[in-house]
Amino acid sequence: MTDFHQYYSGSQCLVAGGAGFLGSNICEQLLTAGAKVTVVDNLLTGYLENLEEVEKSTGKTIDFIQQDICKSASTYLPNGYTPDFVFHFASPASPPRYQQHPLETYQVNTWATHYLLEYIQKHAPKAVLLYASTSEIYGDPLVHPQPENYWGNVNPNGLRSCYDEAKRLGETICGIFHSQYQVDARIVRIFNTYGPRIDVQDGRVIPNLLWAALNHQPLTIYGDGKQTRSYCYVSDLVRGILQVAGTPKLAGETFNLGSPDEHTILETAEIIQRLFAVEHNLSVEFLPLPKDDPTRRRPDISKIKQQLGWEPQVGFEDGLRQTAAYFQQKMKNITG
Ligand code: UDP
Repeated sequence: MTDFHQYYSGSQCLVAGGAGFLGSNICEQLLTAGAKVTVVDNLLTGYLENLEEVEKSTGKTIDFIQQDICKSASTYLPNGYTPDFVFHFASPASPPRYQQHPLETYQVNTWATHYLLEYIQKHAPKAVLLYASTSEIYGDPLVHPQPENYWGNVNPNGLRSCYDEAKRLGETICGIFHSQYQVDARIVRIFNTYGPRIDVQDGRVIPNLLWAALNHQPLTIYGDGKQTRSYCYVSDLVRGILQVAGTPKLAGETFNLGSPDEHTILETAEIIQRLFAVEHNLSVEFLPLPKDDPTRRRPDISKIKQQLGWEPQVGFEDGLRQTAAYFQQKMKNITG
């Protein structure tokens, strides 16, 4: 049993967006800890296959509700359902995906956040809601690394605003329900995360470069590749999520969650090339930098380290190897 599992044994957990990358990894740990898990997901960017993999690996079953959650939760949750924990992880999360679905993205982060909190206020007042916010709320940051008390530098009407402004408002809605109705809402600001069950085709940098290297294709670098990101392996991230949601007396708190291990995109491509394409001369293809692409990003994780003793444990190269093994399995399934 790991340290955070104690909080969840025998609990009822609702995971909104449970068929996605982070949601399905959360479900896996919750089931392992002995929780009863209900997933609600409209499968806009999630996959039933993720839940099937989780059921197979844990030997446990998930109650699945296929549903858009941008409406009152009492219309789709079973009568009398009183969760102990609600994880709101429903949202497209990669820049290409949220830009394809701007309406759904702003709605699920604002309307659905309201409806889930309203359900808790009325039907499950003791429940904890954990809201998946993002490093994107810091925009193109003028402070580096970014602590929780930095307000950010966000374009309110740019390509990314359907996501980053909606996440900012989502945080505000959590704050309102906490201050007005004493709902135990908590926020994690998640920095770039990768690992098994990340969508191979969602356009983010790690899946793009790793998939390209494994398939002997050119590695795509946007702009000059000098922009930075800090990558966290999914098992570390999920451990942090479950510690924040489970630890008593954190109502209304916000924590950065991510790895301070910062790399330029060029370095990222070099590491992937060195680890996975030794025998192939991979080329690099430089493509235009998308508008409003943040120049650098690294979490200041002192708060969560001090309060909960959390910090990442999996190194970047180890994490990449485990992600590559997952991708190779996917490739085998595709080619039969
Ligand atoms: N990027 C890249 N090549 C790719 C995909 C992304 O150079 O094939 C860059 C992108 O422009 C950004 C960084 O990698 O600067 C991280 O992009 P990602 O989409 O993973 O997430 P973001 O942190 O921008 O939300």
